[in-house]
Amino acid sequence: MAGGLFADRKRLWDFTRPAAAWIRIGRPVIKVGKRLLGLPMAVILLAIIWSARVITGSPRAAAQDPQEPPVGKPSPRLLPPPDGAIAPGDVDPKTLTAVVDELVACGTRSSLSSWQAGDRGIGCGRDRIVARFEQISRSTGGRLKVNVERFQATAERTGGRPLPLENVVAILPGSDPLVETVFIVSGHFDSRPSDVMDPAAGAPGADDDGSGVAVSLECARLLASHQPAGGYRATLIFAAVSGEEQGLLGSTHLVDYLRQNGYAVGGMLDDDIVGADFAPGAPHRVRLFSAGGAEGADSPSRELARAVEEIDSSAAVRLIFREDRLGRGGDHIPFSDAGWPAVRFTEPLEDYHHEHQTPRVENGVQYGDLPQFMNFQFLSNVVRDNAEALRELAMAPAPPVEVALSGAVTPDATVHWNAAPDPARAGFEILWRDTTAPRWSVYDFVTTGSEYVFQGVSTDNHFFAVRAVGTNGARSLATPAAPRLRRPASVQPAAPPSGAHQQ
Ligand SMILES: [Zn+2]
Repeated sequence: MAGGLFADRKRLWDFTRPAAAWIRIGRPVIKVGKRLLGLPMAVILLAIIWSARVITGSPRAAAQDPQEPPVGKPSPRLLPPPDGAIAPGDVDPKTLTAVVDELVACGTRSSLSSWQAGDRGIGCGRDRIVARFEQISRSTGGRLKVNVERFQATAERTGGRPLPLENVVAILPGSDPLVETVFIVSGHFDSRPSDVMDPAAGAPGADDDGSGVAVSLECARLLASHQPAGGYRATLIFAAVSGEEQGLLGSTHLVDYLRQNGYAVGGMLDDDIVGADFAPGAPHRVRLFSAGGAEGADSPSRELARAVEEIDSSAAVRLIFREDRLGRGGDHIPFSDAGWPAVRFTEPLEDYHHEHQTPRVENGVQYGDLPQFMNFQFLSNVVRDNAEALRELAMAPAPPVEVALSGAVTPDATVHWNAAPDPARAGFEILWRDTTAPRWSVYDFVTTGSEYVFQGVSTDNHFFAVRAVGTNGARSLATPAAPRLRRPASVQPAAPPSGAHQQ
């Protein structure tokens, strides 16, 4: 885990490339300048170009900034991540293919099609999924509970009328006070043809989102059969929801269902369109979308994305700091709107001939979301990335709360936090990063306490966070430190009393 983090930082701090660029620029400038103007003018010309590069924000060496802290940072010994990681070979690509083929064989899974049992319509899709979850439960000791949630929703894409809908939810209960915290993996089992209001046209939905349903099912099998001694700490939920194409209706209902049942969401992984990877060089990295907070600041979803990348490595996951693709949405959004950490996995590039298209051939081009356009090796990698992230997060202690930063106008930054007593917690990792850096780095590790002083580190040049680490090595999500301002909240920034605030 820590290895991936440090490998990324090493790449970020790679100054050999700027140096090589300078040699490339400098040599010809000197050569041409010497011929036209003589050596002194050539050196002046190079200096002008150099200062322009600095002004326009080209990379500068950290050595040019004062060292913080002046004596060098601590070198804590970090716990290794939990053992028993799910290996790529644990995933069964044949099962993934069988799941997708079975769903495609239902002809259409439009939420407007028939919910009756049978071999065509969304009811067919539901029955295939329920049968598979129940088989997984039977083969893993029966702890996985399979529920079908029936509800109604009204939206523009239900024609303004209440539409009966169903979600399939398989629950693997946690084992301690964290039982009410849930980590969720979800795909949507409804599909759509070109006309989203047409319940009859063919809508195979192999990739969108048979692939995501296959991820949810295979994660259930892997995690139910890889349970640590005593079980996972948090509860795991494997979901297949409907109504996505009619307006995220199943996912919105799932948020209500979780609230009504007293759950808090520790993290939600939405897998939607995760089965194709057609570009040369496949399999590539899967994209992971996360919404930032106000004005692009950190958010719970961003922390979940960072945690998943750190668990799975940046060689497997490509972070995209956006809520979703342009003009598109997905089932993670009702969760992040509720303030819960939620992210979306999607394949590296999309081929729009095979999304939201009724199958047909036009001008020699095959349209339609068919299994032949999928890459099951890539999909297997996505399953592994989801399953290992869920495994480690469900083994972790709760994240620290009320994390605050103080120390303005002093030489030291101080973070404060609160955390409930937890005998299975080894301590806290104190995190920092440059304000322009995408990822956290571990600054120090402490076993106890609720405050940490960064001696000789300005509050202003870095962001800070704290996360909890279990005795098993599993890390909670990071909780960023919010500024603890000395200025009373009632004072309006526009008209501060003189001398009442720090500049
Ligand atoms: Zn979708």
